Amino acid sequence: MISHFDVPAALVIGAGASREVVPQLRRIGARRALLVTDAFMESSGRAGGVVRELEQAGIAVALFAGVQPDPTDGNVRDGLLAFAGGKCDAVVALGGGSSIDAAKAIAMMTANDQPLSQYQGSHKVPRAGAPLLVIPTTAGTGSEVTKVAVITDTARNVKMMMLDRNLLPQVALIDYELSLSMPPSLTAHVGVDTLTHGVEAYVSRKASALTDTLALECVRLVAENLEAAWSEPSNRAAREGMMLAATLGGMAFSNSSVALVHGMSRPIGAVFHVPHGLSNAVLLPTVTRFSLSGAPGRYATVARAMRLCGPDASAEAAGALLVEGLERLNARLKVPRLRECHGIERAGFDAAVGKMAADALASGSPQNNPVVPGAEDIIRLYGEAW
Ligand code: NAD
Repeated sequence: MISHFDVPAALVIGAGASREVVPQLRRIGARRALLVTDAFMESSGRAGGVVRELEQAGIAVALFAGVQPDPTDGNVRDGLLAFAGGKCDAVVALGGGSSIDAAKAIAMMTANDQPLSQYQGSHKVPRAGAPLLVIPTTAGTGSEVTKVAVITDTARNVKMMMLDRNLLPQVALIDYELSLSMPPSLTAHVGVDTLTHGVEAYVSRKASALTDTLALECVRLVAENLEAAWSEPSNRAAREGMMLAATLGGMAFSNSSVALVHGMSRPIGAVFHVPHGLSNAVLLPTVTRFSLSGAPGRYATVARAMRLCGPDASAEAAGALLVEGLERLNARLKVPRLRECHGIERAGFDAAVGKMAADALASGSPQNNPVVPGAEDIIRLYGEAW
């Protein structure tokens, strides 16, 4: 079987990597950049710092700080207007997965003229857009290295997954120092998102030898560093480990796939606005228990990588210890149950669960799962995670 492996052309990784923004933009020939970010990055002064650096180097900047968490098609439209208004020739993203995904869609839409929803799905983007440089501040979605963007279609209330190599950034500046300011809850949620990327990329039906190596190292690094990053926010070694895990997990799932956890998680985000990392975290143990029988050997390897069992444990014992370990991790990181998430109550959940199951299946992700579910299975799993 042939596997395609796509990553950004240049990765700059380590403390201070974000200070390479000027030389890297010069290298790709940018003279007028659109900086795509969110309100927190603007109010905290970080976006202003990047603007000053670029302007001092003679690179003009238009600022678009209107990205909302779980970005929408409206955010992309507004960003495109700012790109045109500033006569820009490149896009820079600063922030978490939301800012990076919005920037990917904005850059892509500078060269593709169909409505955004036409690009939903895999390999639907005909042309690469304006060059894109990304600076992640969470660890993380891995979006800095993926060919994926997730944008909410507000008319249909669906989180659209777009996957195409024409969405890839050209440059990623991966600087763990920017993640030191993440509060514990954000650290926990995006950290379990990273873990989910590693696990799903490894058990996916689309996994390959190359993605396996990255996925297992991602899982190992999360097991080693996430709790320390959560309990000691200024622990630099733990932050560095988590940033690397996010990058490896992103490269792994972007070239393998995600699976049922992500398929079920996106509709929770679209309907109830539960943040993406949190909705993955609440589902991971339940969906893992359901999926074990489809790939017992692979789940056992994940359990070993996380040091949840010894090398001699049977696949069955290792699988059970993995589910238990994921539940314990959620409890220690104070990840709530689905029913405890802000803005979600039982009657609304019961009313939406049929649409959520249909949207999950339509996304294609559940079909990559070791056990492929039907709609009834998904409805039951939502209930079990409640
Ligand atoms: P986010 O970008 O939505 O940010 C959440 C909040 O955290 C924002 O208010 C932001 O300003 C703040 N924040 C970001 N960095 C911070 C820092 N260092 N210190 C303090 N606050 C900080 O969060 P996210 O979890 O990184 O991104 C979620 C989005 O990414 C979702 O839309 C999800 O669908 C998407 N996603 C994309 C991919 C991909 O490959 N494209 C993968 C996974 C998730």
